[in-house]
Amino acid sequence: MKKHFAQAAREAQNPDNAIELRQLSKTYDAQGRSPAKRALIDVDLDVPRGSFFALLGPNGAGKSTLINILAGLVVKSGGQARVWGYDIDSNPRRAKACIGVVPQELNLDAFFTPREVVEMQAGLYGVPKGQRQTDRILAAVGLTDKAESYARNLSGGMRRRLLVAKAMVHEPPVLILDEPTAGVDIELRQQLWDYVRGLNEAGVTIVLTTHYLEEAETLCDRIAIINHGQVVACEDKRDLLGRLDRKGLVLTVDRDIAGIAELPESLRRYNPEIRGSRQIAVSYSPSRIRVQDILSAMGEAGLTITDLSTEEADLEDVFLSLTSGAHEGGSTAA
Ligand code: ADP
Ligand code: MG
Repeated sequence: MKKHFAQAAREAQNPDNAIELRQLSKTYDAQGRSPAKRALIDVDLDVPRGSFFALLGPNGAGKSTLINILAGLVVKSGGQARVWGYDIDSNPRRAKACIGVVPQELNLDAFFTPREVVEMQAGLYGVPKGQRQTDRILAAVGLTDKAESYARNLSGGMRRRLLVAKAMVHEPPVLILDEPTAGVDIELRQQLWDYVRGLNEAGVTIVLTTHYLEEAETLCDRIAIINHGQVVACEDKRDLLGRLDRKGLVLTVDRDIAGIAELPESLRRYNPEIRGSRQIAVSYSPSRIRVQDILSAMGEAGLTITDLSTEEADLEDVFLSLTSGAHEGGSTAA
């Protein structure tokens, strides 16, 4: 069987990096009252082939701009971008054949059914009729039952999954999802992640943008953090989270505490903070201090714990620690 264009493009080479960005920049022109905006500033980034990669950053960081440049929807202002080894300037068709992009916006034509959407997209990518996987793809994203319903009758979660199906018609080796969980309920989110995980296990490189640290943490093996158009960190997940090495412990005790001075030294050395009259909050480095030691110190101080909760580092902490260098062990990343 003759290979269609997308197949040929992805088989042409097996690059070390599925995506390579060098000095990638984007400035949106001033429009009316809004001044020009530097959305990406000299971004260097490598996404290793086969990885499950998170591009993490707050709203306005530049995530969609980066994705849309790769998708060919936004024209970069400077720098280079390669997809599967193909330069998006000198080899745009091959570069495009190697990625599937699920955009942030749920832009679907309301008057087509999922089956039609997938078939048309396959046609657009030159996948011959006999090689189309429409039924399998629709089943994989859980839309078999809705294959003949108009898109306008699909829920937000179904539309998102239809966009995933659409992005996969040409079986690209790289799948990019831009904030895919917005508007998807928890159960279907799980289904979406199972499908995407399966693709990754089958060798597809996945890039996911999110502003939820937790999502990046559970799914991805490598995380880049982007803020104000610049990459402030790009590391294996474990190294990054290890570098944060901060946890919070909030303990509620059975009696009122007037102030820090009332606590014994064995507890004060953890720099506790009194919240309300009966709560003690401690921020500690899990790699150096065991929760057990803090709890023992509480016992020695004659305090009975009635409730306990933990606080993980969140995105805000990540930024603070990466950009201020204030935490021990944290450094300002390049
Ligand atoms: P993110 O996806 O991380 O939320 P975006 O890439 O959408 O970030 O936006 C990055 C910055 O560029 C923001 O300040 C945003 O307002 C601006 N921006 C995005 N798209 C446009 C556009 N088409 N015209 C002008 N400014 C834009
Ligand atoms: Mg965005």
